[in-house]
Amino acid sequence: MNRVYNFSAGPSMLPLTVLEKAASELVCYGESGMSVMEMSHRSPDYEAIIKEAEAMLRKLMDIPDNYKVLFLQGGASTQFAAVPLNLINRTGKAYYIVSGQFSGKAFKEAQKLGYDVKCVATTKDDNFDHVPEVTRDAFRSDAAYVHICFNNTIYGTKYHYIPDTGDIPLVADMSSCIISEPVDVSKFGVIYAGAQKNMAPAGLTIVIVREDLLGYAEEKMPTMLDWKVMAENDSMYNTPPCYAIYMAKLVYEWILSIGGLDAMKVHNEKKANLLYDYLDSQSYYVAPVKKDSRSMMNVTFVTGNADLDKKFASEASAAGLKNLKGHRSVGGMRASIYNAMPYEGVEKLVAFMKDFAEKNPK
Ligand SMILES: *Cc1c(COP(=O)(O)O)cnc(C)c1O
Repeated sequence: MNRVYNFSAGPSMLPLTVLEKAASELVCYGESGMSVMEMSHRSPDYEAIIKEAEAMLRKLMDIPDNYKVLFLQGGASTQFAAVPLNLINRTGKAYYIVSGQFSGKAFKEAQKLGYDVKCVATTKDDNFDHVPEVTRDAFRSDAAYVHICFNNTIYGTKYHYIPDTGDIPLVADMSSCIISEPVDVSKFGVIYAGAQKNMAPAGLTIVIVREDLLGYAEEKMPTMLDWKVMAENDSMYNTPPCYAIYMAKLVYEWILSIGGLDAMKVHNEKKANLLYDYLDSQSYYVAPVKKDSRSMMNVTFVTGNADLDKKFASEASAAGLKNLKGHRSVGGMRASIYNAMPYEGVEKLVAFMKDFAEKNPK
């Protein structure tokens, strides 16, 4: 059976070479005589896997030594609660920028916990077609942190700048853009991401946290949400998501082998430019996102006619271009073109778009 081009927003494509490597080691990993799925997480073989995974991620992202890297479960959504639970006690209040659905959910979760949190900027009134421009004066210095979502998966927007929060730690949900291009980790207090968009299968969540931000959790804090406990136990307080971490390691290895995040960025820009250049060259499809906020990972577009949008997604699917239907809350189309999407996948998509526009005049 032929593999399709899967434009799903997540879980999403994994590099074929990674899947093949995993398949070759699926039943017996090295000399262990067992699958990675069957291994004790305390065994020497597995300890080597998780240590290497961390070392590779540190190398890829150039993570400074004063940051801890945690391999957790629960998805990015669990971190919506973990962020305030771990950090709010620094000063008792925090700021959120709401640039789409996930940042809105993160904000609501902190409110639900009863914390003093404030939304300082949002683009809700513009249907989230760009990310807010914020400057240092937007934040009073007594905040424990400022939370943003760096790439908005559903609307297809991203920050093309890192908001200046002065001494206030910046916390970023990078679920849909992590390891897609280099990012200066030292500009952030915390970076977190569900792995299933750009890194590994579902089940793994990455948290990268500056050491001086550990230790503010309340006493009644659930142990599993306490970053300090997880850091002190090298992400092994309990059983980590072993197989997903192993898969992440293979993905890191693949990216390092092709030149790291600089090369990844070139590859991703090339794909995104192909698609955006086409969108800008015609009028059949409209890309609703403002140009200076366009995401390199999630490209949204509409025909302006809901029936045609539906037809597009279904005919594209029949042509082997899967999961192009936009998020259920916004409609239209969305092409998620994460690291593992080959350039040819986007070429095929653009060719399909041209053909569809010709065959279905409005
Ligand atoms: C997918 C996504 C989430 C939700 O992630 P889960 O791992 O399913 O909890 C949160 N934030 C962003 C930016 C996402 O893309």
